[in-house]
Amino acid sequence: MDTLINTNTKAHDEKRQGEAFAPFVADKNEYRKLFYIESYGCAMNFADSEVVASILQQHGYGATLNFESADLIFVNTCSIREKAEATVSKRLTEFRKLKKSNPGLLVGVLGCMAERLKEKFIEQERLVDLVVGPDAYRSLPGLIEEAETGQKAVNVLLSRDETYADIAPVRLNSNGVNAFVSIMRGCNNMCSFCVVPFTRGRERSRDADSIIKECTSLFEDGYKEVTLLGQNVDSYHWVAAQNFGQNEGYEKPVNFANLLEKVALISPLLRVRFSTSHPKDITDEVLFTIAKYDNICNYIHLPVQSGSSRILQLMNRTYTREWYIAKVNRIKEILPDAGLSTDMITGFCTETEEDHQQSLSLMEYCKYDLAYMYFYSQRPGTLAARRFEDDVPEDIKKRRLQEMVNLHRKNTLQSMQRDVGKTCKVLVEGFSKKTPDELQGRNDQNKVVVFPKKYFKKGEYVFIKITACTAGTLIGTAVDV
Ligand code: SAM
Ligand code: SF4
Repeated sequence: MDTLINTNTKAHDEKRQGEAFAPFVADKNEYRKLFYIESYGCAMNFADSEVVASILQQHGYGATLNFESADLIFVNTCSIREKAEATVSKRLTEFRKLKKSNPGLLVGVLGCMAERLKEKFIEQERLVDLVVGPDAYRSLPGLIEEAETGQKAVNVLLSRDETYADIAPVRLNSNGVNAFVSIMRGCNNMCSFCVVPFTRGRERSRDADSIIKECTSLFEDGYKEVTLLGQNVDSYHWVAAQNFGQNEGYEKPVNFANLLEKVALISPLLRVRFSTSHPKDITDEVLFTIAKYDNICNYIHLPVQSGSSRILQLMNRTYTREWYIAKVNRIKEILPDAGLSTDMITGFCTETEEDHQQSLSLMEYCKYDLAYMYFYSQRPGTLAARRFEDDVPEDIKKRRLQEMVNLHRKNTLQSMQRDVGKTCKVLVEGFSKKTPDELQGRNDQNKVVVFPKKYFKKGEYVFIKITACTAGTLIGTAVDV
């Protein structure tokens, strides 16, 4: 048990780990080679795989869902916890065995593990032919050619300005209703437990125009919901190029509130979500923008990580327990119906039972609708690994995690029960998991809602009166409003 997740939100769906993509298998084009790509980690990694697919497709490579028929196998990797890396290493070892029966096969490692372990994959483990970091995907076609000549191809250079702004991602395994849109890359926060600043580099914001264009074209293609993605979306900051009359209409820098508004204005029928908000950066301006537009979802993912100010300081989160609570109070004041979710870590260096009790009491206060809970996994090279001892025994980390999960289950069930009797607007995403007679979608607060299909279709908005619930799902029937 490393991670516990309670409902199936798209933005962090652990059930998608290792998902393989083949967006154009039905495509009639003749491709010179076939690639297979598997993705691990956060939503940003899944979005990156869509950029990789686009670059490969432009260079004549077609996707396959069957790795045995592939000429190229890519694994887009995550370094956030030790277990994530172990899963990927095992998978790469399996793929390597395929080379015996298919000597021309190339195996490549992409993303955060490529960045963290660099040449180690090639020199020590001899597992792969290509090692490509998250800022080097444009060089993939050249690297593939290099690897085809028998050389090992590596590009793990991090960039200060790469955002892949001009690349239209190929939507992978999409339901045609929701899409992820990356608005920034990297992270400048130095949370002491976190490897992201080292694997994904400095924070940089993507051209606002290109974001609006991508969202507009998604809407024109029938998508009804976009999730704006970044490690820290509230610090989005983009300044237009002043020359050659480009980016007209952007006299002032664009902040996250401005960007949210611009995306919301594309159409009232396009829902807008975003993730992730660092508590120190989310502003009243953002909260008032959410309140102003019906199509910006009333849902905020606001990771706290711990309820103890002492631990928060060691984590370098730059806020205290009291400051975080004040932020949550402000959110509830401006957006009384807002859904709230969080990330939590148990067993960080020096964490005592008292610190742990403070985490539990904070969760009890905030009554999160959703929480991603992990036990601490020391990552080499991070500030915590250099400065502190990983001194909480694993059985204690896991016991604390279980206590946290139990408390959270009780709170989510109560949160669901409070919705029984209410009516909410649901965007239909497809059939329910149990039967084709029922549809499933999500409401404004990101809760999953299941209801009888009748004549409703995917991509429609339907008003549902909630009649019952489980800890993860609201159940209801369609009503006229
Ligand atoms: N940028 C986001 C933020 O600030 O909250 C989160 C990014 S990280 C990909 C997702 C979550 O993984 C973090 O919020 C944290 O709870 C968890 N995480 C990161 N490093 C971890 C570690 N070393 N051990 C356990 N969990 C970790
Ligand atoms: Fe990691 Fe902190 Fe950046 Fe999130 S904000 S990616 S936890 S360093």
